[in-house]
Amino acid sequence: MTDVLPSPAASFKEKRYRFATEVVTVDNPDDPHHAASVPIYQSATFKQAGAGGGGEYDYSRSGNPTRTHLENHLAKIMGAKRAFAVTSGMTALDVIARLVQAGDEIVAGNDLYGGTNRLLTFLAKSQNIKTHHVDTTKAESVLPYLSEKTKLVLLETPTNPLIRIADIPTISQYVHDKCPRALVVVDNTMMSPYLQRPLELGADISYHSATKYLAGHHDLMAGVLGTRDEAVAEQLYYVINATGCGLGPFDSWLLLRGVKTLAVRMDKQQHNAVRINNFLESYGFKVHYPGSTNHPQYELHKKMATGPGAVLSFETGDIALSERIVEAAKLWSISVSFGCVNSLISMPCRMSHASIPAHVRAEREFPEDLIRLCVGIEDVEDLLDDLKTALEQAGALPSTP
Ligand SMILES: *Cc1c(COP(=O)(O)O)cnc(C)c1O
Repeated sequence: MTDVLPSPAASFKEKRYRFATEVVTVDNPDDPHHAASVPIYQSATFKQAGAGGGGEYDYSRSGNPTRTHLENHLAKIMGAKRAFAVTSGMTALDVIARLVQAGDEIVAGNDLYGGTNRLLTFLAKSQNIKTHHVDTTKAESVLPYLSEKTKLVLLETPTNPLIRIADIPTISQYVHDKCPRALVVVDNTMMSPYLQRPLELGADISYHSATKYLAGHHDLMAGVLGTRDEAVAEQLYYVINATGCGLGPFDSWLLLRGVKTLAVRMDKQQHNAVRINNFLESYGFKVHYPGSTNHPQYELHKKMATGPGAVLSFETGDIALSERIVEAAKLWSISVSFGCVNSLISMPCRMSHASIPAHVRAEREFPEDLIRLCVGIEDVEDLLDDLKTALEQAGALPSTP
């Protein structure tokens, strides 16, 4: 078992085509049978030619050919030199967090994914790693907290579900100027590499919950992380091999299968989301969506990403009314998570973000009545009909005869 990061497979090729072509084109030239789909190497061990070992693969914790194919493909679409596939999005962040040592500090947004908050709280308690939470909608807010202790600056943009935008290039510039040892890390789950590639915007590490858009069907859990820096890649690989959190061969295969349709899924989901946004805005609801010209950071988002994505949230002004709307929807399933081909509806304060204490939600101006919509690939007329009926039944809109 090796501690050394294996070199990229010979099949790795630089980006040659536009994204939608690259994402569906998985190179597999070394396959002896010319399989059109990368095979599942469901094997824990690999036989060696001699007593000294030295084969390309020996043990699947350290490396597995199905995972390698997936990782090379992900590196290509993320604009990374190296990418790694691990068992969940939280694992991806955990791997990154192991580059931080006791006494180091993290600067992070104040509107983070609930699980991210939980992990940062755990690091503070168990390892004396302090996180400063700042309003990342204003790039300058990171400045007072940058010091020689800073090891990570952790950003989410857009945030979920409040859809706040962080300026990745400006914050990366501030961090790299003031703290050469610090790494800018971006959770890019909401956008996927199709719409936004943080490594091209100045970040050092980008990660995703691949459970969401990358896999796209809510049938597996996985996390993905990538970097352009070989030395950082070595450190990340060391942690993954040491802790044994690399993604198994079957899930690697499933993720490689799912990711091929990322562009076509996102195009449709985003197209539907724009229609839903326009519908809600036409009835006067306050909608949070970076595709709306009413969004205060519309221009900033547009500079970094090629589209607004397919998650939006809206306020009704009344918690009980929001509950009635969520429960009246039929085509929209009540579910946490997003990025699935099916449309989902939820109240973040009751579900995905309930782990954030109520007083912290209040400090962060988190509307308790907020409804989040994660738009899928269904026919948009059906989605609109179902939502309109739910709004009418709940009493948010006058009934149509
Ligand atoms: C879901 C999610 C995660 C965590 O990923 P898991 O795959 O559930 O572990 C992290 N960040 C964001 C923005 C997410 O939506």
